[in-house]
Amino acid sequence: MRYDVAIVGGGIAGASLASEIAPHVRVLVLEAEDRPGYHATGRSAAFWSETYGGPDIQPLTTASGALLAAGGYLDPMGSLHIGRADEAHAVEALLAEFEGSGVPLNVVDPHSIIPGLRPEWTLGVLEPSCQYIDVGRLHDDYLKAVKRAGGDVELSAGLESAAYDGHWTIETRAGTFAADILVNAAGAWADPVAQACGVAPIGIQPYRRTIMQLKTDPAPPEGSPHVAHIGGDFYWKPEAGGRLWLSPHDEIASEPCDSQPEDLDVAIAIDRFENVVDWRIEKLEHKWAGLRSFAPDRLPVYGFDVGQPAFFWCAGQGGFGIQTAPAAARLAAGILLGREADPAVRGIDPARYSPARFAR
Ligand SMILES: Cc1cc2nc3c(=O)[nH]c(=O)nc-3n(C[C@H](O)[C@H](O)[C@H](O)COP(=O)(O)OP(=O)(O)OC[C@H]3O[C@@H](n4cnc5c(N)ncnc54)[C@H](O)[C@@H]3O)c2cc1C
Repeated sequence: MRYDVAIVGGGIAGASLASEIAPHVRVLVLEAEDRPGYHATGRSAAFWSETYGGPDIQPLTTASGALLAAGGYLDPMGSLHIGRADEAHAVEALLAEFEGSGVPLNVVDPHSIIPGLRPEWTLGVLEPSCQYIDVGRLHDDYLKAVKRAGGDVELSAGLESAAYDGHWTIETRAGTFAADILVNAAGAWADPVAQACGVAPIGIQPYRRTIMQLKTDPAPPEGSPHVAHIGGDFYWKPEAGGRLWLSPHDEIASEPCDSQPEDLDVAIAIDRFENVVDWRIEKLEHKWAGLRSFAPDRLPVYGFDVGQPAFFWCAGQGGFGIQTAPAAARLAAGILLGREADPAVRGIDPARYSPARFAR
């Protein structure tokens, strides 16, 4: 059977786009792993923050927020950006970047929000709109919607090569498939997948990020916000059972792989944390790492390849691929199907994310 569209990669990017197009075209999702959330999607910190990724990402995040809220995927959390006196320039830059954007940002005394904060942390900006995302349910619901609409999801079906001759013939570990359009939603593997299809890579670079779950004494107070260093050295997020997830905000270039945490990054995170609050770390309960993959300008890439018009990029979602997925999928679906943009993303200019910006 020949599909209209084959999507390579069943993470949040591929699953969300597939769910948008499945009611209109015959779609196949090819996922290399036996679990589609095994890589970046299943390793995220699972928060939605309108400032995360900067002003060029915010329209996708904000539009996604309304869609996520409508589906019941968000829970209130808030985010507190903190700094020391010599980081006032970073506070000013954050406020200036989002001035007039509609994102609420309030200057606060961080000591009034975080008990046990060390005295030198004097600067605070509260972003009350930040929320938890139920990533597992969101991703599952997208995949279920694909199947309900008649689409197919093939697991353990990693693309090995594909050739175009009026349509794509796709060789995978699970057999050969045919499709008119091939979508590259392969996360950290976006460039190798392009090359395996005879398409020039655009420089999608994966970077490792580490997270660990800590039990602390005291536990983060009930209802306390996500806390992020304004200078980008750490963040933590309160979790169920009085735990917290801590990251050193590391960004270490990596090959595409099954990323694992390095002891050094864990030690750096703990050292930084102990310099922020006087909470005692009782236990390091889990640690993990995942890859955040960026295009050279750190914006995602949605659109047909300039040199191969039957090859569609859905890549470079960096550290914001979950919080932008619903709107990004609608934007990408509009381009892919050649339809008028969905009302939820009508104000967003797709040219900003087009692969044409890398064409030479
Ligand atoms: C530690 C960490 C924290 C993060 N925190 C957040 C957060 O709080 N909020 C947020 O919005 N985002 C966050 N992100 C970013 C977010 O997780 C990613 O942007 C998003 O998951 C990317 O989705 P994806 O589908 O492109 O990638 P993936 O989930 O990696 O999916 C790509 C899929 O392609 C498959 N694949 C690869 N090669 C092939 C092939 N040849 N054939 C078939 N399939 C193939 C892979 O197996 C994989 O399943 C975080 C990321 C990390 C690592």
